[in-house]
Amino acid sequence: MPSYIEIKLRAPNAYVLARAAIEAMEKNKVWPTPQNFELWSHYVCDPNGQLAKEIGRIISEGGAFTDGACDQLAATFLGVGKLTEQIRDTGDALTKELNSVSKAIKSAQKSSEAYGVTLEYASKSLGSDKGDLRETVETLASATRRVQEENKILESRLSDSTAEVSRLREHLEQVRRDATTDGLTNLANRKSFDAELQKMCAAAEADGLPLTLAVLDIDHFKIFNDTWGHQTGDQVLRYVAGVIGSSGGAPRLAARYGGEEFALLFPGETASQAFEVLEQIRIEVSSRILKRRSTNEDLGAITLSAGLAERAKGEPGHELLDRADSALYASKRNGRNRVTRAEAVATAA
Ligand code: GH3
Ligand code: MG
Ligand code: MG
Repeated sequence: MPSYIEIKLRAPNAYVLARAAIEAMEKNKVWPTPQNFELWSHYVCDPNGQLAKEIGRIISEGGAFTDGACDQLAATFLGVGKLTEQIRDTGDALTKELNSVSKAIKSAQKSSEAYGVTLEYASKSLGSDKGDLRETVETLASATRRVQEENKILESRLSDSTAEVSRLREHLEQVRRDATTDGLTNLANRKSFDAELQKMCAAAEADGLPLTLAVLDIDHFKIFNDTWGHQTGDQVLRYVAGVIGSSGGAPRLAARYGGEEFALLFPGETASQAFEVLEQIRIEVSSRILKRRSTNEDLGAITLSAGLAERAKGEPGHELLDRADSALYASKRNGRNRVTRAEAVATAA
């Protein structure tokens, strides 16, 4: 069965390299951040590359991989934005390996069982009066048992590999999530939002569909924090993120853009459609009397201001963001707790 050989040779590659990267990081006391994982993946995959040489130099000089040193390496050797894609690619590769290993195990089980059953059946049906033939078949059957034993060992090895790949896949998935998600609110972080904005702009340009961007900012949040404390402030951020997130399911995208600032992307939707959604969010947040969880103390209500802009033909992401931002500041200037639509961009006829 040549597929076993292929799997045995192919499967270890991806996860052995991933594990080698993690082990090298552990050995050199490197904290397993996504960025460091990427650095050390390069280190093990391309031991003669410039990055590996620089890491080797730091190790040989007994240097420490401080956050600053790692940032410096990343700034010098890694392109911005490559990280998420690479992690995703590695994850995908591991998923493929996992699936083929599982398939190999299943097919090994099936074929060896079928082989055994067939021969046993043949042995019985030949009857006892055909001595020679029977002996031959029994020899074959015992050979079969040996094959089955071997297969069992192989199956258990493959099964260990499956577990290993599974663990790595979960680990990579976690790393990928951490790299694209805001830790406090679980919404997309600014980096992944910026990347999605670019992608959605390109898609909108290509398919001619509308794209609307909204930015939302909690009103007077500094006063709230000063009055009730930062921890309570964090709980409020999570609550607001929950409201925004529940309106921001795919294909929309909800992100925490900065401290108490959020963003929503509405692919395929006009400013009027997005306006309705933002009004619902604004009303939902402002009508809720917040209570401190630990003491049930009444914290009053908070409000949001928002600005939104619909993308004009040919408009790049950063200009769309600027227009949504200006609309947000108009909301602030005009008394807060409101949603403002940006002026439509004048387009040449
Ligand atoms: P405005 O209505 O003009 O937006 O006023 P503001 O007070 O909300 O705005 P300002 O930019 O002056 O202050 C933002 C405050 O948000 C400052 C900081 O206390 C709070 N903040 C930012 N990030 C966090 C965070 O992660 N947790 C908590 N609890 N507060 C944060
Ligand atoms: Mg604010
Ligand atoms: Mg703000």
